[in-house]
Amino acid sequence: MSLWYPPILAYHRVDPQPASDTPTVSIKAFERQMEILAARWRPIPLGDLADCLEAGRVIPRRAVAVTFDDGEEGLFTHAFPILERCRIPALIFLIADNVGKAGSLSPGQIARMREGGIQFGSHTVHHAYLPSLPMEQVRRELAESKRLLESRGIPAEFFSYPGGGFTPEIAEAAREAGYRAACTTNRGIRRFPADRWALRRVAMHANTVSPLGVWIRCCGYYGLNRRLREPA
Ligand SMILES: [Zn+2]
Repeated sequence: MSLWYPPILAYHRVDPQPASDTPTVSIKAFERQMEILAARWRPIPLGDLADCLEAGRVIPRRAVAVTFDDGEEGLFTHAFPILERCRIPALIFLIADNVGKAGSLSPGQIARMREGGIQFGSHTVHHAYLPSLPMEQVRRELAESKRLLESRGIPAEFFSYPGGGFTPEIAEAAREAGYRAACTTNRGIRRFPADRWALRRVAMHANTVSPLGVWIRCCGYYGLNRRLREPA
């Protein structure tokens, strides 16, 4: 059994304009980060990582998985061309009720991205913060979002908790709803064996633009990352 537990990177928006309420990485910084991953890391689909965890198989050295929350339209316009060019598989967690609405990915864009190797997962129906809901409603958000996406021909094997919010009971409900794994926004990577319904992720920032900076974040050295000034 490998002791290497790969980083799962978490992005929200990739856009030239920062947003006050959603973490945003500029197109330039995102491109640099993907080039570094393509050259020095081994980007794998989250599904491959789940395969390894399920089977207790050794995870390849330098493996890294790239994920996005919310499914904003800019991911098609700004992030997808870079992911395609760098041949990086990624997974986007969609708010099921937002698909096709203004500002979010459309079914056509999702279909085009799937052809280009991008996978999709669920981020609830309404971007609900699950710990503040009764369990009955939590189960509905988990099951209904999966059903909605799959009725549109988008397989949703994976789940991401909005705001990272979950409890052990909610994680159990995600498993019961049929998800193979679920991601939090809790920091960190070093937990093995990993709880597949509480996978930790590494939040990516626009100021991480050097190979060293990417390595530091991927290895979970957050304190060091904050102290280091990276060259632009
Ligand atoms: Zn979200």
